Amino acid sequence: MKRPLAIALFCAAALVATSCSPPSVEPVERKIMLIGIDGMEWDIMGPLLEEGRLPTFAKVMSEGTWGELRSLDILESPVIWTSIATGKLPEKHGIMGFAKKQPASGQLVPVTSNVRRVEAIWDILGNEGWSVGIVGWLATWPAEPVNGYLVTDYFNYGWAPGRGGKGERLTFPPALAADIEDLRILSDEVPDERASAFINGAVPEDEVLRKRFDSLKTCIATDETSRSVALRMADQMPVDFYAVYLKGVDGVCHLYWVDMIPESGPPISREEEAMFGDVITRYYEEMDGVLAGFMEMADENTTVILTSDHGHSGPKPTGDYYRWGIAMHDPTGVIAFWGKDIAEGQELVDASVLDITPTILALCGFPVAEDMDGTVLTEAIDRDFLRAHPVRTIETYELEREPTDVADREPIESPIDDEVRERLRALGYIE
Ligand SMILES: [Zn+2]
Repeated sequence: MKRPLAIALFCAAALVATSCSPPSVEPVERKIMLIGIDGMEWDIMGPLLEEGRLPTFAKVMSEGTWGELRSLDILESPVIWTSIATGKLPEKHGIMGFAKKQPASGQLVPVTSNVRRVEAIWDILGNEGWSVGIVGWLATWPAEPVNGYLVTDYFNYGWAPGRGGKGERLTFPPALAADIEDLRILSDEVPDERASAFINGAVPEDEVLRKRFDSLKTCIATDETSRSVALRMADQMPVDFYAVYLKGVDGVCHLYWVDMIPESGPPISREEEAMFGDVITRYYEEMDGVLAGFMEMADENTTVILTSDHGHSGPKPTGDYYRWGIAMHDPTGVIAFWGKDIAEGQELVDASVLDITPTILALCGFPVAEDMDGTVLTEAIDRDFLRAHPVRTIETYELEREPTDVADREPIESPIDDEVRERLRALGYIE
């Protein structure tokens, strides 16, 4: 990677803007742990917190700063997760949906990393010499080089390393994929007993119920893979900035919302309601345990940031039918900060998904770029830290890209596209 243009721009700006404070020379000693849980929301968490069923989330809230998180106008997860990782609106970062229609074939191709036009927080920190590790983040395949490691979202699918031909780039470095392949669990490898912990009653024999039961395994498999990869990597290759994305909460909300709140959708059988009515709340408890596992790795230098991308609601009634998929997304998600230099017991007001990258930069002692669309959530940060490291700005962190880099912004087709499309269809995201 080239030296960022931003440094040169900053120096140039500093020469003219004499009122601007000089860059801080005091480096910040910190590790950032960014944990993303797709579709997590307060309406479901509230009663569970009251019942004491989410002890780790409760600890984060009482010892840290938390609040509602405002999402974007486009409530499609790859779009929002890219805004979280860049601090920029979709028009700037270029990822506009789950998939893009290929002009030639008319086929929907799932969105891929080359469509992103701007630097992600792991690129910016990596260019500043920070080591980074990213696991499972949406729209990161094919893996781009980073100052550390990156395990793409496609690693969780049935694409065996080495069998996709040259340039499959499931991970960076590419050889990492084979080293962690033993941790990948596919949905048909999830034992019935593991999935049955989320339902009431025995594993169903009825065909309809059985099919619905098996859908749960997709959520378990993908989260279990990301969790175990993230934990092993944290142990084997510690980094300064660590980000992991978990998809399952979103999946179970789409699949079992009407079982939890039967009046929210078309009629379901009493059997389904009884069997699947608690899947979502039990999955939240599962996530509390996953979070506890990550937080065990936090030392006195670690700041943990927990975020979702949007919330959920039931299918939307429209005349005599219901709209599923993206129509079930609600624009309010969850944000929480915990650990080093985080204000204690604060509630955030009006936080946006766009504020996460600027806030990470401020916590790491780096300026925020003026071309980012979010701002630093200063209420979340300890006042002493802010006094010693006031929020500074620079024009941009964008690199001077070669013209050929930006010419091709169509999603890249992969051998697992049918599987990705099938999952998007199962959740109602595409037709
Ligand atoms: Zn969703």
